[in-house]
Amino acid sequence: MVLVFDLDDTLYAEKSFVYSGFDAVAEFISSEYNIKKHIFSKELKLELQNGRGNVFDTVLKDHNLFSKELVKKIISIYRLHKPIIQVYDDTIECLHRFSDIPKYIVTDGNKIVQENKIKSLDIEQYFLFCFISRRYGIHNEKPSPYCFQKICKLEETTPQNIVYIGDNPTKDFIGIKPLGFKTIRIMKGSHKNIVKTHEYEAHFQINSLSELTPHLLERLFV
Ligand SMILES: [Mg+2]
Repeated sequence: MVLVFDLDDTLYAEKSFVYSGFDAVAEFISSEYNIKKHIFSKELKLELQNGRGNVFDTVLKDHNLFSKELVKKIISIYRLHKPIIQVYDDTIECLHRFSDIPKYIVTDGNKIVQENKIKSLDIEQYFLFCFISRRYGIHNEKPSPYCFQKICKLEETTPQNIVYIGDNPTKDFIGIKPLGFKTIRIMKGSHKNIVKTHEYEAHFQINSLSELTPHLLERLFV
């Protein structure tokens, strides 16, 4: 058996990365303009909660600071900042529980951003390899099975022996389930309340990684 994990909202809360990025942006804004860091950061968080359009545009406009150049600058600060983030409480215990099983990460997203997250979370040592799918072209991001097929080759095994744990029913399972990969959905993050039709759903759902047990995995292989 091989375990493959998604990164965002599976091993750690993606929102914590967003907030960490907001703090980095607010730090820059407070150094350039007469706005307190914690105020600006809080405004970004509130705007995100409101869920209206582009957070940076809106908050900059509120301060009469909006320009395309400044937005570009702060998006780059957001993406390149060294994130202060932590794995979920039960992540490390889970990775230790399966210490004798080969483990991989398959994650979509910006290469540098995803790399920085993995570094900050200090989890690289638990995985044989972390696939950032965009390295192989944007068309090979999920739902493409490309990285999963690479893992099959590396492990000289078939999809039936590979379990993917992810949180996003829109793209995490639909591409690989028809090929025979086993799938588990963790009900965390912004997708946790999304209900999709059968073909998008994972074989099993769990609420946290503490529920990812040898017993549960056995049931996948019945
Ligand atoms: Mg995810």
